[in-house]
Amino acid sequence: MSDSRAFCPRCGDPVPERSASDADGETDAADPLRPGAEVELCDACYFDDFDFVDVPDRIDVRVCATCGAVYRGNRWVDVGAQDYTDVAIEEVSEALSVHVDVDDVAWQVEPEQIDPNTIRMHCYFTGVVRGTPVDEQVTVPVRIARQTCTRCGRIAGDYYASIVQIRAEDRTPTSEEIERAKEIANQIVADMEATGDRNAFVTETSETDDGLNIKVSTNKIGKKISNKMVEEFGGTVNDAETLVTEDSDGNEVYRVTFAVRLPPYRPGEVIELADDDGGPVIVRSARGNLKGIRAATGDRYEASYEEGNSPDARRLGDLEDAVETTVVTVEDENAVQVLDPETYQAKTVARPNYFDPDTETVPVLKSRAGLHILPDPDGDSEIERDGAYDPYESNA
Ligand SMILES: [Zn+2]
Ligand SMILES: [Zn+2]
Repeated sequence: MSDSRAFCPRCGDPVPERSASDADGETDAADPLRPGAEVELCDACYFDDFDFVDVPDRIDVRVCATCGAVYRGNRWVDVGAQDYTDVAIEEVSEALSVHVDVDDVAWQVEPEQIDPNTIRMHCYFTGVVRGTPVDEQVTVPVRIARQTCTRCGRIAGDYYASIVQIRAEDRTPTSEEIERAKEIANQIVADMEATGDRNAFVTETSETDDGLNIKVSTNKIGKKISNKMVEEFGGTVNDAETLVTEDSDGNEVYRVTFAVRLPPYRPGEVIELADDDGGPVIVRSARGNLKGIRAATGDRYEASYEEGNSPDARRLGDLEDAVETTVVTVEDENAVQVLDPETYQAKTVARPNYFDPDTETVPVLKSRAGLHILPDPDGDSEIERDGAYDPYESNA
């Protein structure tokens, strides 16, 4: 600290020594005779000029009447406001500024609804500056203009850039597959919205005789949905572009159709392969090549690369079609006697390796291919319906 006295550059009164912390770390070099030097006003002059809060005379807000987004800068933003009062409070706090010297600033606001589009905001501020408590009351009218944001305008106009068609080979998609496709679409859009992407939306989902159509706002979303479906269920996706229009700059605008083709056989189905004498196969997965388990032995089956997910086969039934029947006797390593669930006669059937010799009953499927023991749906060495669990992979 220097011992030179400081004087108020405006009124010439001596300025009392202030501690370094009061001076907020600023250098208090204070020579009024040197122009441009950093000098401090006395409290009286300081408070003459002091403006605690700076707010505009009025605030105009454009709010989307449909989704509540607010137009800020040059774009629509989601502000997460519950109602127009919330929006008004948020806009006031965005628009106001408080003098930098003030510590311990607190404020409260009392909205007064004047008419449906005008809210008068009574704001009360308190704080401390130069050790002196200060307060100020300001009133700002907020005018709300109800409009339609770009996104809501597009949704209302049934805008879409891409269609995802969910179909299946030689069958129609199941209700599970259709529901899952809708979930995936909504989840992908929600994830994109969560990152602030306002252009992501599902325009429409419609079920058709042969599946589901999902119209979405961007090609990127269409691609994500179809890739996710194939990742979960197997199958293929093909995309095709259609020229729909030219934009204002003369660029061609394409709409992309993603055709998802789910595999013909689903996990849990029991099929009989053509030109094969290994007996029924319980389908475990249709992602990539069809994979499954032989009902006669429990051995693993995998279709060749050429056959892919659609080997030549016919359906015999489904794990859900199995009925519980009594085990009469275990004959040997390869054979078990069970009761035929239709005739109640003891019948010798193949013994798959998933058969538990201590069990009293087993699920069996009676089909064109004969009587077969299926895996116990509650057992722990089982094939799960969604194909997620592979009893062989743990040994591989
Ligand atoms: Zn002064
Ligand atoms: Zn909107």
